Amino acid sequence: MNAHVGFVGLGHMGGPMAAHLVKAGYRVRGFDLAPEARAAAAEAGVQVVGAAPEAAAGADVVITMLPVGRHVLSVYQEEGLLAAAAPGTLFIDCSTIDVADARAAHEAAVRAGHRALDAPVSGGVVGAEAATLTFMVGGGAEDLPQAEPLLAAMGRKVVHCGPPGAGQAAKICNNMIVGISMIAVSEAFVLAESLGLSHEALYDVASTSSGQCWALTVNCPVPGPVPTSPANHGYRPGFAAPLMAKDLGLAASAARAGGVNAELGLRAAELYAEFAQGAGAHEDFSGIVRVIREGENT
Ligand code: NAD
Repeated sequence: MNAHVGFVGLGHMGGPMAAHLVKAGYRVRGFDLAPEARAAAAEAGVQVVGAAPEAAAGADVVITMLPVGRHVLSVYQEEGLLAAAAPGTLFIDCSTIDVADARAAHEAAVRAGHRALDAPVSGGVVGAEAATLTFMVGGGAEDLPQAEPLLAAMGRKVVHCGPPGAGQAAKICNNMIVGISMIAVSEAFVLAESLGLSHEALYDVASTSSGQCWALTVNCPVPGPVPTSPANHGYRPGFAAPLMAKDLGLAASAARAGGVNAELGLRAAELYAEFAQGAGAHEDFSGIVRVIREGENT
């Protein structure tokens, strides 16, 4: 008999993730504040309930996929999710949130008599729809066996990163690399243009040399060399600039809190915050190349 799963947050990511659990045979009770998210989930076979705590009642595992840390903490505590669950329930938070908030959520769950894992994802909406997400998990190794079959139904890879908060730490460190490297690749293409070097020539050299990286070979910020990259499709996301700005903001505040000398990470957070509020509001994060080239952010 497959487990009962409560699922709170049925948006762009949570919606398809919950749908994959239904397909895998889990009985999923879900809730979202947004009526359109509830309707789409019901269509996919999720039993939609009227409030978050109803999703936890009778569940073996409760998954949350919410925007930021304060939503997770509020749903867990003020909105009564933890209180509604049977003692010993496993809570898995898949949202990308601050490491300190992830630890606070873990502590709140344990105080309420439960078990908890942070399990943020990479792979984006495409990965959620195709069930090819990577899960980065923080928490007790003894809780992994119960989580793994569910995560496997929604993704392709599960990495246990360490104690509570370690999944979130891995996520923001990885995205700091990607954010900085996208700026580096973009600056290199713009420099190449000013030197009369073609995009193809730089791509052919860097993609087979030490400049090789995901920002170049998968999400290439200029049209041409990688036909599937958002640059060839009007910079439609992909991975939206506001999400990159959010993740870099989390990395920057963690770096400041830890006294880490992450100069490029802090600068990348500033550049993406500006871009996300301007021209990049609805664009893939690789669109930052145009701001670098033109110096305009409108
Ligand atoms: P989204 O805004 O589409 O979905 C979040 C959902 O949470 C919304 O439908 C909203 O109505 C719901 N919600 C908010 N507060 C609620 C509450 N109190 N009770 C019930 N529902 C509530 O966002 P998303 O793109 O699905 O992202 C979710 C998380 O996944 C974020 O932390 C994001 O950073 C992370 N993430 C997103 C992507 C991506 O490409 N979209 C990739 C990796 C990680």
